[in-house]
Amino acid sequence: MSKDIATPIRTKEILNKYGFSFKKSLGQNFIIDPNILRNIVHHANLSEESGAIEVGPGIGALTEHLARAAKKVIAFEIDQRLLPVLEDTLSPYENVTVIHSDILKADVRTVLKQEMPNLEDVMVVANLPYYVTTPILIKLLTENLPIRGLVVMMQKEVADRITAKPGTKEYGSLSIAIQYYGTAEVAMIVPKTVFMPQPNVDSAVIRIIKHNEPPVQVISEDFFFEVTRASFAQRRKTILNNLQSGLSHGKEKKQDIIDALESCGIEPSRRGETLSIVEFGKLADSLYPFFY
Ligand code: SAM
Repeated sequence: MSKDIATPIRTKEILNKYGFSFKKSLGQNFIIDPNILRNIVHHANLSEESGAIEVGPGIGALTEHLARAAKKVIAFEIDQRLLPVLEDTLSPYENVTVIHSDILKADVRTVLKQEMPNLEDVMVVANLPYYVTTPILIKLLTENLPIRGLVVMMQKEVADRITAKPGTKEYGSLSIAIQYYGTAEVAMIVPKTVFMPQPNVDSAVIRIIKHNEPPVQVISEDFFFEVTRASFAQRRKTILNNLQSGLSHGKEKKQDIIDALESCGIEPSRRGETLSIVEFGKLADSLYPFFY
């Protein structure tokens, strides 16, 4: 087995060799602690028959741990300057394909079909670029990809919001947007000191395991998400007030909204943060006929 990329000494050697300078705008904070990487990979429960998709391999620190644990790794990297670096650092691993692409523009489904045609168990494992955490998660969850789930590092504050339960101050439309697709939990908290350069914020790794079926069946997913977003627009307002101001023509439909809330057994004076995903699903379906 070759020497870990992620030791501080080897990372510095690689950066110097290529004269690489970090781009803050691309969220480039590389991990320089092999133990953290081993733990991240452990939380993904990969087997020798698994596939792993990585977003942003950087200089390959996490990629090589994935290459050792899985049958095949596909890594999407936006920064062209890192391609020759990865070619060099990952040369001992034959099971890695690096794709030069913005993950948000990539056709991940087609790439998976081409690169991992026979793998039944695929996980996304990544230390995400923090400036695009939410769009990346939403893309990977809504495209109905054949993946078991995701183990991803992000800003701790975002991890807390994603995994929050009803009734807490972190619970909001982001918690619902993600938990609609999977069960989300914080797997580990990660100190700033394991990154180069050190970020200004604390980090956490979360694990999302996709549901086979959503927790609630709704008439329209788009309208369900519209209702949840409207319900949290102003946290101090009641759900009735938020729906009136957040849904189109809501002001004129006050009585319809009250009727829909009451038909679901939801007091109009409750706040959005007290409603579960199932309650939001029922509410969206009761409101639907009044808005479409
Ligand atoms: N995986 C490496 C590690 O853990 O040390 C690097 C992680 S660093 C936080 C994020 C990586 O994502 C960088 O390599 C950056 O260039 C890349 N990146 C940023 N935006 C991206 C995007 N939209 N698509 C693909 N990669 C991106």
